[in-house]
Amino acid sequence: MDKPKLTIDEMAAFCKRKGFVYLNSEIYGGIAGFFDFGHLGVELKNNIKKEWWKTFVHQRDDVVGIDGSIITHPMVWKASGHADGFTDILVDCKKCGSRFRGDQLIEDKLKIETAGMSMEEISKKLSENKVKCLKCGNELSSPKRFNLMFSTHVGPIETSSSAAFLRPETAQVIFANFRLVAENARLKLPFGIAQIGKSFRNEISPRDFLFRMREFEQMEMEYFVHPDKYDDCPLIDEVLDYEMNILSAEMQKNSKKMQKLSVKECISKKIIKTKWHGYWLAQMHRWFVGLGADPSHFRIRQHVKDELSHYALDTWDLEYEFPFGWKELQGLSNRTDFDLKQHIEHSKTDLSLFDEESKKKIIPHVICEPSQGVERAFLVFMFDAYHFDKSRDNVVLKLHPKLAPVKLGVFPLVSNKKEIVELAKKIHNDLKECWTSTFDTGGSIGRRYARADEMGVYACITVDFESLEDNSATVRSRDTTEQVRVKISELKDVLEKFLKGERLSKLGKVVE
Ligand code: ATP
Repeated sequence: MDKPKLTIDEMAAFCKRKGFVYLNSEIYGGIAGFFDFGHLGVELKNNIKKEWWKTFVHQRDDVVGIDGSIITHPMVWKASGHADGFTDILVDCKKCGSRFRGDQLIEDKLKIETAGMSMEEISKKLSENKVKCLKCGNELSSPKRFNLMFSTHVGPIETSSSAAFLRPETAQVIFANFRLVAENARLKLPFGIAQIGKSFRNEISPRDFLFRMREFEQMEMEYFVHPDKYDDCPLIDEVLDYEMNILSAEMQKNSKKMQKLSVKECISKKIIKTKWHGYWLAQMHRWFVGLGADPSHFRIRQHVKDELSHYALDTWDLEYEFPFGWKELQGLSNRTDFDLKQHIEHSKTDLSLFDEESKKKIIPHVICEPSQGVERAFLVFMFDAYHFDKSRDNVVLKLHPKLAPVKLGVFPLVSNKKEIVELAKKIHNDLKECWTSTFDTGGSIGRRYARADEMGVYACITVDFESLEDNSATVRSRDTTEQVRVKISELKDVLEKFLKGERLSKLGKVVE
């Protein structure tokens, strides 16, 4: 198992240099935890969201999407528990005032895993080990709770009743709209409601580039089942033989290493408690692998008893081996009927569904809530795509063709022959109707290929002197550097097949 080849700081530098990601307002010194996406980053991010939506909404009959607002009625956060309980543990330096997250201090300074540690344990560990301020070395205050929600005011006059919050997750908007969506879309259990959108968390110490931000995007789904049909998963056959690296709560308790197991084994040995949970864990894992991520960098880890939220029956994290260790990429929790019940109680609105079979009202259970940060997925795809090719002496960003920000590059071999430039431009304009394409006339052809490789351009098309005679152009593969000669009139067909994964050498006359 080889770790990603870059550190997180090297990845941040690469992303800045190539126009993927910038620190927000860098000209003013930047603002921690906020980032802007550049001309390539916005394309990659949009492609990630598009692929997620396509797989989990468009290609399914049992899931619909919504797009809720960022600011909602503050009671939503009271009911969900965020107003009172969405906190992290904060410690201040008594001298310089620097603030740190208690659990992160323990992980950084004492190299101890903090998953599942209570506030009291964190407090004890910090004082027993006499952990001091990371900035000035002075004494730290005792830990206190800090609510991560950003607050604002709605309307021109600030009063206590005008206070509102930027949403810290997209999920609650799904619960608040549950009944309307279920009825209007005529959904029958089991079904899912999905959403992609911005979330905001006033993280005490944002860090590790896009990993822990204060403004980010989430791709989330609530998958609802009948409360009496927890294990009735008609889709389980699709994933039974699918294998993943598994680290169960039991394995963690006994200090065992993760193990590669199939979903079938996990279910029969009761490692994963419900078939639906197994189904969604495999689907989410498979989505990453299907888009080119390396399965050996992934594992699914079950929350240990103390780590589990009070409402969750079972939670697994899809984790990725980042250069700074195994970290959560996506959380997949069985939230039971907790959220719907909370909203029923606080809003005094009936959010139940009528069950035709039993002729009774029922409150569906969320058997699984897959919750994925878009930017963490962005990092995973970038780390797994990044290759330094020694023979080419440049970086090759081997992003899956569905994710590549720019699919094609069109180059006139020389820039001083008008007919060649015009023909190349015409091809570029024509291809842009179907795919993103870049037109590059600057420098030697080798230099242009290298630039395209670093941007992840999947195929380059070069127009040369011969093109004027034989109406053909050369197509080059980013990943293999293979080149074939293709009739210009057939370019679109060839590129369509190539972008879908066919071998280039099968699609044209190979150039030796
Ligand atoms: P962590 O333990 O890393 O703080 P969490 O358990 O608080 O994560 P969830 O509340 O489960 O995270 O959020 C679901 C997903 O949203 C995470 O798996 C992650 O992909 C993304 N996410 C959460 N917080 C952030 C953040 N500050 N920056 C970027 N992505 C985030």
